[in-house]
Amino acid sequence: MMQKNGNKPSKINLKSLSRVELESFCTDMGLKRFRSDQLFQWMYQKDVRNFDEMTNLSKDLRQKLSEVAEVGTIELASEQRSADGTIKFLFSLHDEHRVEAVMIPDFNEDGSPNRLTICVSSQVGCVFGCSFCATGKMGFLRHLTPGEIVDQIIKINQTTEELHGRGITNIVYMGMGEPLHNYASVVESAAVITDEKSLGLSPKRITVSTVGLTKQIKKLAEEQQPFRLAISLHAPTDEKRDKIMPINSSLNLAALRESLEYYYAQTGNGVTYEYLLFDEFNDTPADARNLAKIAHWIPSKVNIIMYNNVAGVTLKRAREHRLDAFMRALRDKDVTATVRRSRGDDIDAGCGQLAIREGQPKGKSIAKELSN
Ligand code: SF4
Repeated sequence: MMQKNGNKPSKINLKSLSRVELESFCTDMGLKRFRSDQLFQWMYQKDVRNFDEMTNLSKDLRQKLSEVAEVGTIELASEQRSADGTIKFLFSLHDEHRVEAVMIPDFNEDGSPNRLTICVSSQVGCVFGCSFCATGKMGFLRHLTPGEIVDQIIKINQTTEELHGRGITNIVYMGMGEPLHNYASVVESAAVITDEKSLGLSPKRITVSTVGLTKQIKKLAEEQQPFRLAISLHAPTDEKRDKIMPINSSLNLAALRESLEYYYAQTGNGVTYEYLLFDEFNDTPADARNLAKIAHWIPSKVNIIMYNNVAGVTLKRAREHRLDAFMRALRDKDVTATVRRSRGDDIDAGCGQLAIREGQPKGKSIAKELSN
């Protein structure tokens, strides 16, 4: 199972393997199955990358492993702390690429931590080119491996333990990239994180978001994937969605509806709609009534997100009086909706703001010239 790098054989990175592939790797090495459990635990619970530290493996086995394999990991390059407790992390990958992830704490009235949520990245850049999104402006550079996604979580978990005396409580796949475009890695990483030999987080505390990749939504349903699903909707009609989300021209709201009805029929689970409120674009009471129609397709709740303005983007955060009227119109239509205030504004850590701006090549994008 040695990987080739040009003519030179390179060591296999155990963190690039799925759980099943790790088992096959052990079988190919002539090892008993429990060895893959031990390796898994060292890598994903104890964050150990050196075989010499894996003390329940014999010295011979550690030597044998180090000859053919390695435990690659991402490195924390820097972190920025917001006045509100939000922390943005910049990670370096093994190649020239970097990604960001964010930890957003919620506190109880006595100041103790309540929810500690991580927003993780699933790709370097993104191909879908939504007009309001800084990541989309990078274009798509590459998918992250399951190990690179899990490493973000494990490393941030260590920080929350040090800072708040406990680990993370929730994960949202809403950082850089479109998670369902990197379906296999996202599903595998969620399986790792929910495993008792890793963090053992409940799948109900994991939310995967998508701009509406209908084939993958149906696949989630067919596979009965247990985590929660969120739809990045952001506009309540095809006409408006076409203007800000290029994906809508090929996968429109009718296609999204059909996939969500299938998802609900198969799983019995509703969804959350994420809706960035933009001033004088999608924030009128008429927009709210159109959004209400979508919210009633299947059981759902709606998160209205107050946008953190992004440099170079003409869409701006909606004003408060327009938000109030919008929420009233949603309530009149019996929509369960909450307002999510921006967090980490002072460190550019809000929804749509994550991007590596310097030293990164420009990737592929389906974005077109937008009319707004
Ligand atoms: S909002 Fe999501 S899908 Fe759209 S460009 Fe940004 S990362 Fe990609």
